[in-house]
Amino acid sequence: MIVILIGAPGSGKGTQSSVFCARFAFTHLSTGDIFRAEMAAKSALGLKAAEYVNHGKLVPDDVVTEMVAGKLVDPQSGRYLLDGFPRNLAQAQALSGLLAKRGSGVDMVLFLDLTAAEAMKRLTSRRICGGCAEVFNVLSRPPKAEGKCDKCGKDLVQREDDSEATARKRLMVYEDLTRPLVAYYKAEGVLHELDGGCSPEAVSGALAEIVAPQLGAR
Ligand code: AMP
Repeated sequence: MIVILIGAPGSGKGTQSSVFCARFAFTHLSTGDIFRAEMAAKSALGLKAAEYVNHGKLVPDDVVTEMVAGKLVDPQSGRYLLDGFPRNLAQAQALSGLLAKRGSGVDMVLFLDLTAAEAMKRLTSRRICGGCAEVFNVLSRPPKAEGKCDKCGKDLVQREDDSEATARKRLMVYEDLTRPLVAYYKAEGVLHELDGGCSPEAVSGALAEIVAPQLGAR
């Protein structure tokens, strides 16, 4: 089963994915997380991705698609939540082709709708732990001790691509290239829209209401 989570950077895809995958036993496939891990490991893929990620640009389609193809081992009987992929029409078409070859297709697309102003506010106030990657927000989820992770005590840092200039660029890329996927998947009859501006708990509840009946029906 394939579920896709679409939303602007900062719309809460990462937070929702963790809750969703734990609750419904899905494998979380976040292309952004994979690139950040590869970048931290300074692998060949990470060094290549850094040229794009750190400037708010999309990594080339062939690189991302090949990477995802390698992770989608068994789309027919496995449950996968795709977070951050596809990011444009070419990737959506590549995904459909890839899934069709493996006897599968996109089952559901969950769209977290959020205004650009709110996304910008959330991105620039986001901080992550340099040790365990726990996510905080200086406005909405501040750490107990300033600049320190509640979980492991390591220093909190700002993601390089969450700086104001790069965040703005990422939001423009989202509007131009990713947002058109909403219409694409609506036409395919698999789109569900949610208000990404609600509290994380309210969004998780709404997601569960959409997904649970469909899982039960399979
Ligand atoms: P995210 O954590 O999803 O916001 O992704 C962070 C960055 O990783 C993006 O700004 C892109 O540079 C890169 N990236 C993640 N997913 C993709 C994708 N599907 N296609 C191209 N680049 C991606």
